[in-house]
Amino acid sequence: MKIAVLSTNPDLYSTRRLVEAITHKGHQALVIDHLKCFLIVEGGKPSVIYKNELVTDIDAIIPRIGSSVTAFGCSVVRQFELMKVFSTVKSQAITRSRDKLRSMQILTKAGVDIPKTVFAKTPSQVKELIKLVGGPPVVIKLLEGTQGVGVVLAESAQAAKSTIEAFYGLKANFLIQEFIAESGGADIRAFVIGNRVVAAMKRQGMEGEFRSNLHQGGEGQRIELSPQEEETAIAAAKALGVRVAGVDMLQSNRGPLVMEVNSSPGLRGIENTSGIDVAAEIISYIEDKIKADEGDTVGV
Ligand code: ADP
Repeated sequence: MKIAVLSTNPDLYSTRRLVEAITHKGHQALVIDHLKCFLIVEGGKPSVIYKNELVTDIDAIIPRIGSSVTAFGCSVVRQFELMKVFSTVKSQAITRSRDKLRSMQILTKAGVDIPKTVFAKTPSQVKELIKLVGGPPVVIKLLEGTQGVGVVLAESAQAAKSTIEAFYGLKANFLIQEFIAESGGADIRAFVIGNRVVAAMKRQGMEGEFRSNLHQGGEGQRIELSPQEEETAIAAAKALGVRVAGVDMLQSNRGPLVMEVNSSPGLRGIENTSGIDVAAEIISYIEDKIKADEGDTVGV
């Protein structure tokens, strides 16, 4: 098979590991920088030009689309879908997972529990917003934030009010969420492939830090998920249609609560902490899907 990783940088850990796994299993690997693709949209013959050449005979793509280029990245993925190439994640699922409000609406519709969350567009009634999520303390998150940047824990009503007003003043989009104190500055990342959790880790924030992101100094350790945690992670990935997903959850007194479903989950942290060859699992999944449904056409 010929499998393409859509990535802007072949030297990134996840891209390298996927290329290794593809080659190791006897397939042909190529890295396509989606930002350098030309898409030819014409009736009956959609195609992609990369480095002045028509991209042909690709059996599957593994999109690794950065959040800053979601729109164009998804157009490239959609073009491959039109060309009937199997993708580990549909363009529509990437778009959905990147929209925090929409993903939370989809998750709750599917019966997946999330921390109580409020969105509002106007700065009036800040006090009511804080009350609605049972605060203070409350968590305030910038919608554009990643890796824990733009996630604030407001311990008092006054701190929450000032933060919310500052975000409104900057015209930033944000959400207000109930603070899950009992998660103790830790969260769980479940790596879901298809209908299975293949690896999981717990990330613990530094002393005195409620954010557990590895980029914020958090540390990961391998864990076994409870059956309820596994079911929740699989249900969340399924609800959003993300077939290869990093599902982030908080352990709360009322069970696992999903914070986010990541559609381009990194491999470094999860492989290093779990010792599992997640890249190989992704390639096996592609092999199985293509074998089971030769020429599986992905809806657009
Ligand atoms: P990002 O998408 O930027 O990583 P997250 O929403 O994942 O932001 O939040 C970063 C970290 O903050 C999480 O990994 C978790 O440890 C902590 N956190 C986020 N939301 C809550 C919450 N509602 N209650 C308790 N801790 C939270």
